[in-house]
Amino acid sequence: MSELDETDPFVSRLDAPTLRAARERGGSAVVVGGAMAGLAAAHALRALDWDVVLYERQSYADKRVNCGEAMTDAGSIPLPKTPAYGFANRPPAFEVHVYTGETGARTLAGEGVFPSTDGYVTDRNVVERRWAEQLAEQGVDVRESTGVRKAQFRAFSEEFDLVVDATGQPSMASKVDGTTGEYAGRMTALNADVEGDFSELYPNSRILFENYLGYAWAFPKSETRANVGIGWAEDKLPDDYYAAFVAACERNDWPVPDRSAMNIYTIPRGPSLDPERTWDAERRIARVGDAAGVANRFTGKGISQAVESSYLLAELAARNRLDDYPEELYDRMKNEYRLAYVVRGALEDGRPDILGGVMNAVSGIDVEAVDREPRHAFSRLVRHPVLLAKLAANPTMLSRLLDAYTDDWEYRKTAETPTRS
Ligand SMILES: Cc1cc2nc3c(=O)[nH]c(=O)nc-3n(C[C@H](O)[C@H](O)[C@H](O)COP(=O)(O)OP(=O)(O)OC[C@H]3O[C@@H](n4cnc5c(N)ncnc54)[C@H](O)[C@@H]3O)c2cc1C
Repeated sequence: MSELDETDPFVSRLDAPTLRAARERGGSAVVVGGAMAGLAAAHALRALDWDVVLYERQSYADKRVNCGEAMTDAGSIPLPKTPAYGFANRPPAFEVHVYTGETGARTLAGEGVFPSTDGYVTDRNVVERRWAEQLAEQGVDVRESTGVRKAQFRAFSEEFDLVVDATGQPSMASKVDGTTGEYAGRMTALNADVEGDFSELYPNSRILFENYLGYAWAFPKSETRANVGIGWAEDKLPDDYYAAFVAACERNDWPVPDRSAMNIYTIPRGPSLDPERTWDAERRIARVGDAAGVANRFTGKGISQAVESSYLLAELAARNRLDDYPEELYDRMKNEYRLAYVVRGALEDGRPDILGGVMNAVSGIDVEAVDREPRHAFSRLVRHPVLLAKLAANPTMLSRLLDAYTDDWEYRKTAETPTRS
């Protein structure tokens, strides 16, 4: 049997009898995709003493991944929080500034400071490489530089008790099923690591809303190095992404990255709320992380969500309740999505005054708690009558609030996807 560390962030979710029974039962799993969601799934299933094979199509030594570098709830990642493991800076807070526009004449419409008790700005490629190394030492069969093809993926259902699809978006399962179009409404983002003077901001991080459907950010890793980026939602992309990124760097006094240093990614609004897609009981395929589309709809933040989805899956495997995965995932994410859906309305409507008011009102709540316990944010809003009056007078916000509370939103509003029963 594999060794068990009872202080491990996944292991501590289970009581001793459940854990013992699960480890005695064992099982086999293939995890396809070895980024944060896949690494978390492999880690948790291995802790249950399952035989785990992990496929990652890139080599960890070469992998260039600098999205998802601000990791909250870092305690769920079982690695020492030191620079050698990629945890570069522990920002005391994330600052959010809301501006009325993106020109020189802009004014500040509101701001929030969100303390971060367990967040880090990371070199994500180092975190992933170190986690994969640790998994290999723990007995996971890590097959890097090995992309899984469709035929192979189909065959996995015959070979393993559980197939974990952690391939990001669009996911392998959707490719196999020909349903990649379900990853709609995405955000496109450009980012890069840059060298420059960040001493004024460091160790904090900053996110800027500048009255377009998206936002920009600076996440310092030290006083002289930071990840900077900008993203736009859905159909509101600029014609020239690079020029728009350069303009954002210039107006915010950040160094302009070289074009060759930039990465471009998309953040999906995936099928996470559709239980029919996150778990295919017949083929024993579960989607986690971005493959399940669990990144936050407003901020695009998806690392803690990815890890949580994988740990939840493994926890249910331990309890012999895998069929409950879609409903449990939906229940965990629902409130976060509700808040994101409502607040996003202010951006879509071009109302920096409302968004700024929301930031002023919710300022001070822990950055991870905004996602995990959005009721705190909602209860803050209720205590601001002027803001409430503005929300009530705005048809977009009102209809979004109503949708959120009647659960009539997200994929249920998308014609081509089935309605949740
Ligand atoms: C620009 C940008 C900035 C972001 N910033 C943040 C942030 O600061 N904080 C945050 O929390 N989130 C952030 N996010 C979101 C976050 O990056 C994602 O939610 C997260 O990466 C999801 O992790 P994942 O493991 O599910 O998927 P991915 O990171 O997409 O990983 C999928 C993995 O699967 C592998 N793979 C794919 N197909 C195959 C195959 N056929 N065979 C084998 N392997 C395969 C890929 O190589 C990849 O390693 C950001 C996103 C973007 C785009």
